[in-house]
Amino acid sequence: MIPFIDLQAQRKRLGQPLEDAILKVVRSGAYIMGPEIAEFERQLAAFGHAPYALSCGSGTEALVLPLMAWGIGPGDAVFCPSFTFAATAEAMPLVGASPVFVDIDPDTYNLDPESLQAAIEAVKREGKLTPRAVIAVDLFGGPADYPAIARVCAKHGLKLISDSAQGFGCTLDGKHPIHWAHVTTTSFFPAKPLGCYGDGGAVLCKDEKFHDLLVSLRVHGQAVKSDIEGKTFEHDAKYLNVRIGMNSRMDTIQAAVLLEKMKIFEDEIAARNRVADRYAAGLSDLVKTPTVQDGGVSVWAQYTIEVEGRDELGPHLREHGVPSAVYYPIPIHRQGVYSGYPTAPGGLPVTEAKAGQVISLPMHPYLSADDQDQIVAAIRAFVKKNR
Ligand SMILES: *Cc1c(COP(=O)(O)O)cnc(C)c1O
Repeated sequence: MIPFIDLQAQRKRLGQPLEDAILKVVRSGAYIMGPEIAEFERQLAAFGHAPYALSCGSGTEALVLPLMAWGIGPGDAVFCPSFTFAATAEAMPLVGASPVFVDIDPDTYNLDPESLQAAIEAVKREGKLTPRAVIAVDLFGGPADYPAIARVCAKHGLKLISDSAQGFGCTLDGKHPIHWAHVTTTSFFPAKPLGCYGDGGAVLCKDEKFHDLLVSLRVHGQAVKSDIEGKTFEHDAKYLNVRIGMNSRMDTIQAAVLLEKMKIFEDEIAARNRVADRYAAGLSDLVKTPTVQDGGVSVWAQYTIEVEGRDELGPHLREHGVPSAVYYPIPIHRQGVYSGYPTAPGGLPVTEAKAGQVISLPMHPYLSADDQDQIVAAIRAFVKKNR
């Protein structure tokens, strides 16, 4: 079976230096907040063109932290797509707020600015919830339509988060999503384009005070610089807890792994784009291949096509030694625990249609041309047989 994502090929390329970096942390004893954490945050901010980056426990907590920092909670509405991983929407109930589900663009699968506009107006008209923020997702690695989404946010005074868990490193007109968003979040779950060897995440932001607040929230609301300025203490200020936070530290070992992976990340993004181009060349005459936002560069977390008879394609590919996956078979607003939250007026027809049509193919920077030929041939045989 061809691997769906080949993390071992990457590990072999990284070789001994990766293992040395891990062992160095083990031997140092600085398992929590060791020096690798600050160095990784510095490099991550530089890579993502953001003034500040804060590592944290996971991509889910990376979404929760800014919501907490803005004081978003009960009675507040945060708008997000339903065609995404559950964590995008889960962040809202975790702080007591309500997700409001918005439809997607039929080609990029990302937040539809018109559906967003309509959803915000509907929530305002109804008057039960206060619109506070929008979470746009760079689904499958491709950038959302940030200029249009940011315009809608500015018009309504809403904060904008780019959930770049799948799209970290993607650009639009050469700029990273943080150019338009107040905050970018990402996940280092191993299968993401930039993954570690466990759980991890990060929040990128532009404002020093906001970053300070995140630093505090990440470690139990501990007092930070601005909290203790001009004050004197009889005890260590470290044990002064001035707000309700949580524990969302990333392990030092994960930062050490990520520092090694950062060295090849740019090169891997280029390799992912070559793999995507080969798929498009082999398939675009027969199936709907992915569309990236105009001016955008995807990091290709997934390569997702649309094909008639989707449910039969998976088993057909498996017979030919090719794994596949459906992201996402059930939109979030159709899942029991999320079904009580509001949607854009008129519902989410595009989201619901796409859930029945999409299928994702093996995608990683080390996919060989031979393996790809085998995948393309199996899909072509299926489509031709089905016609
Ligand atoms: C993976 C993912 C997350 C959550 O990341 P974790 O690190 O698994 O908590 C959030 N949003 C999207 C779009 C994701 O794909």
